[in-house]
Amino acid sequence: MTICRNCGCSASQAAADALVLGFQEEFQAGVYSCCQVVAWADEQWLAWTEAAAEDGRSEEEATRPLEIMDCPGLVPIRFHVYPDTK
Ligand SMILES: [Zn+2]
Repeated sequence: MTICRNCGCSASQAAADALVLGFQEEFQAGVYSCCQVVAWADEQWLAWTEAAAEDGRSEEEATRPLEIMDCPGLVPIRFHVYPDTK
């Protein structure tokens, strides 16, 4: 198993995150690195848990976006390419 030395994720983890973000093709084509994909997935997860908290749900009750992708109320977030500032 390949582990990225920069972000610490495995190739399969990054591929799964890319799939959730709708970046699978770009990831496989090498347009986005695993580090970018994983950072974006973390950001989306954070935004999602914050939204869940605002709805009065605890993080424990929140479901990962991966598992609720077929929820009609959830529109997949489209990310733009960030500059190197974080
Ligand atoms: Zn990486």
